[in-house]
Amino acid sequence: MMQMRRLIRTRTIVCLLVGGIGLSGCQTNPYTGRSQLLMTSVGQEMQMGAQAYDQVRSDPKVKLSQAPREIEPVKRVAARIVEAAKRSKYAEMAQQFQWEVSVIKDDKTANAFALPGGKMAVYTGIFPVAKTEAGLAAVMGHEVVHALARHGAERMSQGQVTNIGLQVVGAAIGLSGGDPMLGQATMAALGVGAQVGLLLPYSRKHESEADYIGILLAADAGYDPQESVHLWERMEQLSGGGGPAEFLSTHPGHETRIEQLKKWMPEAMAIYQKRAPMPATPLPEVGGR
Ligand SMILES: [Zn+2]
Repeated sequence: MMQMRRLIRTRTIVCLLVGGIGLSGCQTNPYTGRSQLLMTSVGQEMQMGAQAYDQVRSDPKVKLSQAPREIEPVKRVAARIVEAAKRSKYAEMAQQFQWEVSVIKDDKTANAFALPGGKMAVYTGIFPVAKTEAGLAAVMGHEVVHALARHGAERMSQGQVTNIGLQVVGAAIGLSGGDPMLGQATMAALGVGAQVGLLLPYSRKHESEADYIGILLAADAGYDPQESVHLWERMEQLSGGGGPAEFLSTHPGHETRIEQLKKWMPEAMAIYQKRAPMPATPLPEVGGR
């Protein structure tokens, strides 16, 4: 208890100090009330997000899907999730973001990411796990929350992995001399782990926030939030294999995750029941793992 109080006090002092030297400082998550220490500004994060997105898309190893049958369902779900985000408690930030989604043709990677600034990518390997557009809405709701709740920025600021914090904050505030390429660590911190082969799992708190707010967004977008439970059950079955992907690497404890989702479900269902329900249209078959 004492330790807890000291921790809170320390955090407050750190927040004041950081605020005082002109860096971003602290903010409170509007849904969960959790306080976050952030060393970057939203503008800097958006810039890094856009840069990371360009880096992925121009990577010669990345194959962008050209197939309308793969692109259309992703765009449809993304558009509805973004609309929901624009009427959420993150409305102000969601309006600022320049939303865009790419479909990466990689049937073996069950992953997706959303970057600060609103650039998103879905790997075709997530289709068999998401199964339907409602399942995909659960995935994208979750990812969009990581971006809107500034989880990438927070883990950069925390420096969860040695040196990443300093390296990233240095880059963000221009100490690196304007190197146009983001390093692997920065990319990983922003959520592009699968692409750069360097995994930086989100913390349990981040995952819980993304799960909770994610189902509220999916429900508000008209997708049955109960699909999230089935999605995570399938994800769990899959987690034995696969490459480095955000989804396969994060284990807030499967039972805990499902239990929490069920606890939050009445709130999400109340939102869903006020919306015109979207059909759970099956996603296209892909090459398989
Ligand atoms: Zn996540």
